[in-house]
Amino acid sequence: MDQKKSSLSASLCFATPVVALAAALVPPTAVAEEDMSKPEIKVERKKEPNGREQLYMFIDGVKVHETDTTKQPLPPVVTPGEEPGDAPSDAIVLFDGTAESFAANWTDTKGETSKWKVVDGAMESVRRAGYVQSKKKFGSCQLHIEWASPSKVEGDGQGRGNSGVFLMGTYEIQVLDSFQNQTYADGQAGALYGRSKPLVNASRKPGEWQSYDIIFHQPKFDEDGKVVKRATFTVLHNGVLIQDHVVLSGGTGWAGPHAVTEYKAHPDRLPLSLQDHGNPVRFRNIWVRELKD
Ligand code: MG
Repeated sequence: MDQKKSSLSASLCFATPVVALAAALVPPTAVAEEDMSKPEIKVERKKEPNGREQLYMFIDGVKVHETDTTKQPLPPVVTPGEEPGDAPSDAIVLFDGTAESFAANWTDTKGETSKWKVVDGAMESVRRAGYVQSKKKFGSCQLHIEWASPSKVEGDGQGRGNSGVFLMGTYEIQVLDSFQNQTYADGQAGALYGRSKPLVNASRKPGEWQSYDIIFHQPKFDEDGKVVKRATFTVLHNGVLIQDHVVLSGGTGWAGPHAVTEYKAHPDRLPLSLQDHGNPVRFRNIWVRELKD
């Protein structure tokens, strides 16, 4: 036992200079970045009128439990939707089930009238009509969207109920009939295509309405087009967490059987788009809340 202890302390003694050397090798910028990621916490001790000493904590310069709303503004009030999935009061509704809403908010990728159909309160992908894109452009956002693969099951693998939700028209969350329909994991419903498989398969049966709730933070590029911040995704499929704050390592575009595209610099705001992959997939109840980075 003692022998073990002494050999442990000997190895620690030996390890110390190695640790010190490793610390010295850490670039100073990395240390600074780590410090910046933490809130600035300041603690003050003050004497109360009753003589007791009290601790006051400040986070990012604001007193904890501050009741003065000029110093700590209250969050804006948002009226939530009546039912789960309904748009809250501060959402931008991109499709409410009507042809008017479709025409007002969506075009094809050339900005012209899309050949997608509005059927039974849903917008439906039409083979060879191409993608649809929102007229409004978005960056980081919370997106709610409902979709249904065709109730008549046709094809298999990637050929069954394939569509996609493209944040910024670029980063695809796969839409696919993944109910008893096997394909590669990073290409099934809820995958960040080619980059991140869903944690679980929460698919409903073909023809049944399903939902995605997506929290997306956009990537950032410097003026030379280099990625300085990667995109992140959190996704719930039918209320089930399937992407848990995933840091997207690059693009999600098809680039051959075993490859996807890399990041490519793009503007800060771009339309949301939905894929025409040749299958009549339907969408409804689409709304967005813009997020600050
Ligand atoms: Mg797809």
